[in-house]
Parts: sequence; C-alpha cells; structure tokens
Amino acid sequence: MGTGTSHGVPVIACKCPVCLSSDPHDKRLRCSALIEHNGKNFLIDVGPDFREQALKFDICSLDAVFITHSHADHLHGIDDLRIFSHKNSAAMSADSVIRTKYPETDGDGLPIFSSERTNGYIHERFPYIFVNHDKGGGIPKLNLISIDQNTAENPLKLAGLEVVQIPMLHGNHHTNGYVFTCSDKNGIKKSIAYLTDCNFISSESLAQVKKAGCQIEHLVIDALREKEHSSHNNFLQALAYAEQIKARHTWFTHLTHDKKHGQIQEYINTHLQEFPALSQITKEGGSVSPAYDGLTLTF
Ligand SMILES: [Zn+2]
Ligand SMILES: [Zn+2]
Ligand SMILES: [Zn+2]
Repeated sequence: MGTGTSHGVPVIACKCPVCLSSDPHDKRLRCSALIEHNGKNFLIDVGPDFREQALKFDICSLDAVFITHSHADHLHGIDDLRIFSHKNSAAMSADSVIRTKYPETDGDGLPIFSSERTNGYIHERFPYIFVNHDKGGGIPKLNLISIDQNTAENPLKLAGLEVVQIPMLHGNHHTNGYVFTCSDKNGIKKSIAYLTDCNFISSESLAQVKKAGCQIEHLVIDALREKEHSSHNNFLQALAYAEQIKARHTWFTHLTHDKKHGQIQEYINTHLQEFPALSQITKEGGSVSPAYDGLTLTF
C-alpha cells in the first residue's frame, strides 16, 4: 500500500522531476503492506499515511498488525487503528472461534505483533493508549504481543498462515523483517519475505528467511536509492541480499525521490549481470523490479 521512504514521494515542497512526475508509479506513500489470507487481513506497519491507505484500498477489517520497528514513518498512524480495534474487539468477544485463534490476547483488542524491544517503545511513546485508560472512547484498543520467539523452528500460526520474524539492523536501530508462508492451491508451501528498513542482514537471519519457506515467491526489500546510506540498503546492497535469498520475484521498496520508477528498472537491468543467481532467475520467468503503491502479489 506504500513504497516510499520516510518523507513519502512527492516530498513536501520539492520540485525535482520525480516529485513532479505524473506517472502514478512515482507517487509513493509511506511503507506499508496488507496480507489477505483465508478471509483475514493482516497489516504490516501503520505509518502516517495509514488513513489514506485504508480508504484507498478499502480495508474494512483488520485481524492483526505486524510492526517492523518504531520509526515514525512505520508507526504514527497508530491512532487510526481505533476503528478496527473496536470492530475487532467486538467481533472477538462475540466469536469464540476467533477468540481461540488468538489465545495470546485473551480475546481483547487488536493484536499488535512486534519485537519485545519495539513493543516497549510503543508502550512508552503512547501512554494514553496503554496506561491512562480514563480518557473516553477515542483511543485504539491494542494488545502488544512479542514475536521474538517465532523463529523458523517455531512460527506464529494465524488463520493457516505461518509467520516468522527476521532480526535485522537499520543503522543502529533493530528492526524486524517478516516471512509469511502458506500453501498455494496445489498444496505447495510458498513464502513472501518482507524486509524493509535495513542495511545489514546477518547470515543467521538470511538462513532464517530461507528456512521459513520452501519456496520464496516474493521478496520485498529495502532499496532506498543508488547512493549509499547510513541506515538503508542502496540498490546494489539490496541486489546482493536478493542474490542470496533467491526469491522468484524481488521487489524494491522504501524508495526515495532520486529516480523515477522506469529509471530504477533501468538501473536494475543494467546491473543484473553482476548477480548470476538473479540473472538466471529472470531468464526462467522471475523478475527484479521496483515495487509501487497498489502492487498486488499473489500465489
Ligand atoms: Zn522507514
Ligand atoms: Zn523530489
Ligand atoms: Zn526506519
């Protein structure tokens, strides 16, 4: 639902060719994704554009939220979860089946899954949600749930979906990637790996990504820009991680306003030959491309 960096594209007050572009692929809201599975909706990150995204993509319910890290561009739309958290908590108390699916929440509030560390930041930064409950009905009803124990050996199971957290570094900041795995219509297990906001993925974490799913159909990975950055992958770093992960389709996200969509694709096409596994995958029908808002990935 969003593929832009922290300021979004167009950037406020910027008159560069990308920010002035009329190509809808160059309109990048803050990073976010929606996973739809077995009639359930799972949100990844709730940034400042969440309200606009929920309206644009007609989200009518949410069953859980996964937070990658506590930066504002991934979290500060949290107040707008209240519509869903109130709907969700009503449904949970009425429906014992759903209550059983999320025993961790005791059937109360919208489950927010993240690392213990990120949950601590969220709790500290929004005391009016978690501490002072006496301010009327205007706050979201949320349950912070740690996902630290959910490795490839012990995935979180939600409505037939298996979820594994992938610890990564984003400058000095710790962030979580996520791998979502389920069976396709032929019963073959496939995965989507969502690895935004990172510039270092350890060999242990890369092994977790590969262990989490038998076949990685889609990799969505942080690729800010061509030039290096202190806390985000540049294009070549993203390609180097993609070369190791070997997904059938790789998508760049968290894009800034240095290049238009078509120029990013040109950059990828020019450099692909430096990455033999990715070159081979693209010859066999796979792809490496910039993501864009509204992109739908299925299997
Ligand atoms: Zn970000
Ligand atoms: Zn610009
Ligand atoms: Zn960040």
